[in-house]
Amino acid sequence: MSTDETDEPVKTICPYCGVGCGIQIQQGEEPGDVQFVPWGDAPVNEGRICIKGGAATEVVAHEDRLTDPLIREDGEFREATWEEASDLVVSELERIREEYGPDAVGFFGSSKTMNEENYLLQKLARRYGTNNVDNCTRMCHASTVWALRTSLGAGAMTNSMADLEAECDLFWIQGANPGEQHPIANSQYFRQAVLDGATVIQVDPHANKTTRSFQIDETDRHQHLQLNPGTDIPLLNIVLKTILEHHEEHPDDGWIDEEFVEERTEGFEDLVETLVDFDKKSAAEECGIPLEDIERAAEAYATADNAAIFTGMGMSQHACGVDNVQNEINLALITGNLGRPGTGVNPLRGQNNVQGTCDVGAMPNVLPGYQLVDDDEARESVEEVWGFEVPDEPGLTNVECSHEFGKSVRGLYVMGENPVMSEPDANRVEERIQNLEFVVVQDIFPTETVEYADVVLPATTWAERGGTVTNTDRRVQRMRGVENVHENTKHDLEILSEVGTRLFDDGDELFDFDDPEDVFEELREVCPIYHGMTYDALDEEGLHWPCYEPGDEGDPFLYEEAFDTENGLGQIEGVTHQPPEETPDDEYPLILTTARLEEHYNTGTMSRRSPTLNRQTPENFVDVHPTDADRYGIEDGQDVVLTSRRGEITVEAQVTDDTREGVVWTTPHFAAASANRLTNDVLDERAKIPEYKAAAAEIEVGIEP
Ligand code: SF4
Repeated sequence: MSTDETDEPVKTICPYCGVGCGIQIQQGEEPGDVQFVPWGDAPVNEGRICIKGGAATEVVAHEDRLTDPLIREDGEFREATWEEASDLVVSELERIREEYGPDAVGFFGSSKTMNEENYLLQKLARRYGTNNVDNCTRMCHASTVWALRTSLGAGAMTNSMADLEAECDLFWIQGANPGEQHPIANSQYFRQAVLDGATVIQVDPHANKTTRSFQIDETDRHQHLQLNPGTDIPLLNIVLKTILEHHEEHPDDGWIDEEFVEERTEGFEDLVETLVDFDKKSAAEECGIPLEDIERAAEAYATADNAAIFTGMGMSQHACGVDNVQNEINLALITGNLGRPGTGVNPLRGQNNVQGTCDVGAMPNVLPGYQLVDDDEARESVEEVWGFEVPDEPGLTNVECSHEFGKSVRGLYVMGENPVMSEPDANRVEERIQNLEFVVVQDIFPTETVEYADVVLPATTWAERGGTVTNTDRRVQRMRGVENVHENTKHDLEILSEVGTRLFDDGDELFDFDDPEDVFEELREVCPIYHGMTYDALDEEGLHWPCYEPGDEGDPFLYEEAFDTENGLGQIEGVTHQPPEETPDDEYPLILTTARLEEHYNTGTMSRRSPTLNRQTPENFVDVHPTDADRYGIEDGQDVVLTSRRGEITVEAQVTDDTREGVVWTTPHFAAASANRLTNDVLDERAKIPEYKAAAAEIEVGIEP
């Protein structure tokens, strides 16, 4: 469907992070002989590449690849034909629907797969009769998307990397680590702005590559506010109150943009009211940071010509994730830092297509283009194109689905995801998934979730197929593929097309498409923000959404004239501190927080199989502050057992003052010792994102170094 027939390298997009760097791949003489070639004038990265992008081709022909369909029989997998495997998938999905109804199946899309593939998966779920379709944005930015969509209009970066580099004077980076997670955005765009004089305020419990890349700790200009995990709301409330107080005494200084607040927002009085009795001094103690440091940061933000907020999973992955992001929106709105280049509230998205997977509707509450499933008019407009009815109630999110395994949910269709490792409280997920009657996994490698599958459908990798992906600043770009490595694997789109056609054999050809472009053409019809795009118009540069009509050039920054809310006004809403559900106690006296590494990628399905990446960090570890290490008698490099109420992992201790005293920090990338065996699965009430960033923990020592 997507193979390029020429000998020339093909232009495609790095399969790892949301920056969306362009790379080329060259087909060698044999299938599987695929070489990385720089793409010198790629629109986002102009040929630059980080360690992950440079190593991306290493996994394409890896010996672990799934090469044939598998069916579980008597507890063991046996090879099967596509015919057998598809028949079984279709008959089991039909049986479950007949016995329990359509909501007894969950469909998990993937941010590692393309827009067309996720579009078809969510269409399959909805034709099946359920809105139980979700993707891993639930784990990373569901709360950000919720807050941005509700208060500004679109669940995405308000600005673009290029305008931020050119115009931003102050980068407020809270709970994000672009130095590690978005290396090319950091080195190519943000670093250039800082070299040109921009200031960085980093708010993070952990010192990291971002701290070091801007030498934040070594200058007076920049600041690292190393707060206690889960105290982002009090910190931002100190900032907001400092700005309000200063404005009352010195209105001419313009720390609050009165005209902007008056004409373009509502809810300012609510914010003022929320902060009337707020005590900055005790809040600063709660954050663990001197009050004057936070006040200095407030002044820097309020007096910058253009200040931009970057927000990451340190903000979103909390039970108060929506409120965390809302408080960042409050800060940008009262100071007028929205609607022009160099400003905004900008989530740095994790995977290469997490933005697009949401855009195309692989979420339980929205259809393509973020049209709400319970909005009759929007739903009917999509139904008209599709020719079938869509349920009018939001479905279950992926973690809610997992909580229902074996209860209301009896079957699971997983495309390119690894919920057994990616979900919090992973030990319980492993137990619950065994209660399902039928699990089908469509993937390129035998993931930890494959171990619980009844049918495995072998897919092709990123390098073997074409389609589109949408990067962190809303740029939709084309991917192109070379030859299939294994002849009995299929592109995700072909697999979905085949399952859909067999499952709904009603002559309507709802799943009958010639190629990814054919699917994109239908996507455009039902997704207003993509409506103006075609494969030809995307060409090599791509286009930023929204792109409503053919010929539109797309918007690098949003909300110049009005917000995309019902009344066009940005929504200010005061929020108050909500501590993490688990705080330290006698039994678990430490705070556990988690984050990712530059060399690895989420559950490590690809990165742990890449020799170059795995060599950098082959095993998990835990950062322990020197004072805690002394107290526990831990030596640097010693193995320790890290425990929470949900499990334990054995990892090497790294004694470092990168972390705060009382805070231990580890990663989710390594199967047996994944942080997610310890994390808490309490959810944000609205966005249903889990609280990965804070749990009570303890360290047990006694293992010889
Ligand atoms: Fe790939 Fe992200 Fe690295 Fe660019 S910055 S090469 S998109 S991992």
